[in-house]
Amino acid sequence: MSRLTATATCTAHRAIVEQTGQLVSQPLLAERVAWLTGLARELTAEIVAGRWSAADLDALASGVGLDGRALPAKGWMAVRRLGWGVSPAAGVHVCDRVLRCAQEQAARLLRLALHRRELVAAIVATWPREPSKRTDADWAALRAVLPDRAGAAEIRNRTRQVRAYRDAHDGQLPADLTELEGPPACAAQIVLAAADRQLATLERTGERSARLRVKLPLTASPASARDWAWHLLPIALPPTVPAEAKLCAPTLWVAKGRVRVDLPFQTSIGFAPATGHVIGCGFDWGLNSLLTGTIGHLTAGGRVVTDGRPLAYDASGVSAKLHRLRAEREHLATKRKHQERLLAGITPADPRFPALAAAYEVIVLEHERVCARIRHLNKALAWSAARWAVDQALAAGATVIYLEDLATLEARGRRGRANARLSGQVRGQVVEAIRHLAAKNAIAVVTVPARGTSKYCPRCGDGASVLQHCPAPDRLAERGWAWAHCPACGLSCDRDWAAAERILARGLLGQQATRTDRTTGTRTIRQVVEGNVARARRPRKATRAARRARRTRTDLHPRPAARDRAKNRLTPKRPTRTPNRHPANNVTTSSRVPDRRTVPAPPPNMGGQRPAGQAPQTTRPPAGRTGLARDPHQRTGFHRVAATPVLPLGPYADSPPRPRPPDLPEMLRQT
Ligand SMILES: [Zn+2]
Repeated sequence: MSRLTATATCTAHRAIVEQTGQLVSQPLLAERVAWLTGLARELTAEIVAGRWSAADLDALASGVGLDGRALPAKGWMAVRRLGWGVSPAAGVHVCDRVLRCAQEQAARLLRLALHRRELVAAIVATWPREPSKRTDADWAALRAVLPDRAGAAEIRNRTRQVRAYRDAHDGQLPADLTELEGPPACAAQIVLAAADRQLATLERTGERSARLRVKLPLTASPASARDWAWHLLPIALPPTVPAEAKLCAPTLWVAKGRVRVDLPFQTSIGFAPATGHVIGCGFDWGLNSLLTGTIGHLTAGGRVVTDGRPLAYDASGVSAKLHRLRAEREHLATKRKHQERLLAGITPADPRFPALAAAYEVIVLEHERVCARIRHLNKALAWSAARWAVDQALAAGATVIYLEDLATLEARGRRGRANARLSGQVRGQVVEAIRHLAAKNAIAVVTVPARGTSKYCPRCGDGASVLQHCPAPDRLAERGWAWAHCPACGLSCDRDWAAAERILARGLLGQQATRTDRTTGTRTIRQVVEGNVARARRPRKATRAARRARRTRTDLHPRPAARDRAKNRLTPKRPTRTPNRHPANNVTTSSRVPDRRTVPAPPPNMGGQRPAGQAPQTTRPPAGRTGLARDPHQRTGFHRVAATPVLPLGPYADSPPRPRPPDLPEMLRQT
């Protein structure tokens, strides 16, 4: 895995017809591209609807073609090998490459459906007695038959879907996905990755520009080859596409009168090994914040030591906004459904119809806008959080990031309800974004089992000492959620921080059991290896004056010359115990960070907030939390996000140097 693929969304504003040199304006170009994507969509929909049956999905899932050979990975080739031909409407001339693109898109849709089908089959096979609340035995039975990449949100949504079907069909469970839902909707787009130079070519013309040469129809239903013409589309590349990146065949679609070009590009990246990590970051999906993390290292003696600095990305302001938007979306959906019912009850001749129809259109538009707002906010939040997490890892010189496995993170009890604000979907996006950004920097991302990470003490008992959860450090006797307290060793710290330490320990100690998925390249540790985590402050670097004093063997703090001539030597010191000296720079350090927090959390609503304006808002750290005060220089891209600043502290003094990614020729020699 030495190449990383990302997609840049570009716009083609105009084009030139190659043969005549005629300039094609944006509206005309958008119309011609829309004709092409429309043709492809019709063909795709025909294949998908025609093959939406259990027998055909079985044939695709079997991976064997009509001739007994294994199906190729390329979707359009697999569809052709299965004999699923398609032809355009009578009188329409479409070249074979357009058919290929349609078959490719159909194959992608059907292959995605295979994953959903496997999931539904597993859920139906292990249908629990109480579908809203699976017991541990139910989960174990489900896990045994589930496909590997199934997330908790996916399972929940499919379970709801199956339950709705059962309620509508007198307790009958669906026999197959094709009974549960209709064929998937096909987007109006053309996947040029399946075409070759007979339909499209792409070349880079400069550091920031490329040129797409594509054959477009000149009418809505081209009757012959003469109704097609080569168009040259200049494309400006965004600055995120590096000059050395390799451009791949794009996907074209039309949105709001513009031709959008989804342009995948590949960059070479360093190799992140699965094992051999010394410095790592552990992140927990917080109850108090979106992400809580800790940085630590594995000592030569096999102990996990963290640097005692809690890292937190607190997005409670944004998640409250998302919560309000979701409530609004539900409200609008209810209204829309109600008006649909009203409209269905009257005929267009009814005098009330025009007013109702107009109101209905407004509601539909508003609903779409709120949905788009939620989508964009989710995406922006996910990338901001991921950027912050990877920056923290880079600043600490970490080579690995450990996360909780979302698949094993089952929503249970209070945790599930509190976390419903930041849905599993956002978390999935954060994981994807962290994987992408970490891969760019040759940092491995490994998931560890989530179970019990916040239940047991990270400091004592090797993962067997149960923590008590309370509301705040000065209310240890009450029952709560935000704060963790260990009666055995006296540890008292933020609940999510304790969980992040557990996650880091599970990762660093269990790295020998790391498994890499062959198809996706994702790394997972399934085995739980527990161990205690110590907290020790990083050794401070000696100041220049201290270094000089050591070199010249002089006193760091020279005394004034003694007035009394009789006193001409230093007063002998009393013998002291050997100080804790760090071998690397011979500086006395306090090695331990106190495990007990004695200062109570500040009372709520202390001090007022300035009105919004140019001056940065001073955000009070949340109750019981330190080091989270908002720094205007720590930009997260959000007004209402408080995140621990990224401090470039560098790797630990005694840790080995960060492995450099090998050169490409060297990697080729190794394989
Ligand atoms: Zn303890």
